[in-house]
Amino acid sequence: MVGLIRQPQFLLYDLDFLQSLPKHHWENGFAEIIKHAAIKDATMMKELAAHDITYYQKNKKALAALIEKNVQIKVKVVQKDEFEKGDRKLLNFGHTLGHAIENEHALLHGHAISIGMVYAAKISQVMQDFKDVGLLVETLKKYGLPTAMHFDIDAAMEVMQKDKKNAKAGMQYVLLNKMGKAVYETIPMKTLYNLIKLYS
Ligand SMILES: [Zn+2]
Repeated sequence: MVGLIRQPQFLLYDLDFLQSLPKHHWENGFAEIIKHAAIKDATMMKELAAHDITYYQKNKKALAALIEKNVQIKVKVVQKDEFEKGDRKLLNFGHTLGHAIENEHALLHGHAISIGMVYAAKISQVMQDFKDVGLLVETLKKYGLPTAMHFDIDAAMEVMQKDKKNAKAGMQYVLLNKMGKAVYETIPMKTLYNLIKLYS
């Protein structure tokens, strides 16, 4: 609750505590790490693509460095945009569709946004001429994350529209222009529906 109003003085991560988490919670966390790489850091995506969960579980130094890098990405985005609605929205990459299927199918948050990111990347291919869908999908798979799922598109679209107030004409969607560079674009609902259907 404090964090809703003021930024924290410091963040404390207990690496030993992380070691005690079951594997699916590591996957869960790595979904957000891969998201950060996709929207802000192409170099980190390459690093992630070269490793896997076991590597980070066994290498405390690499894990600590990875956590620090991710905190920096998030802090930078949030501080730059503490009270506005600009850069911060980019953190929603994969979350629009992700949230819709997370609720409908009782998925882990990380698993749901993994699928959401794959759709967003494929939509980016059409809308932004994004070329690296393969790298994103392969990296997600390497961290045990799902990249496809059958779901009711109409039901998902309904949840997405309820989520957003300005959804009449189109939906603001976070897309990738290239790896490490996210943008947002308003996509007409019909186009969005057709693209999601195309890739289902
Ligand atoms: Zn999330």
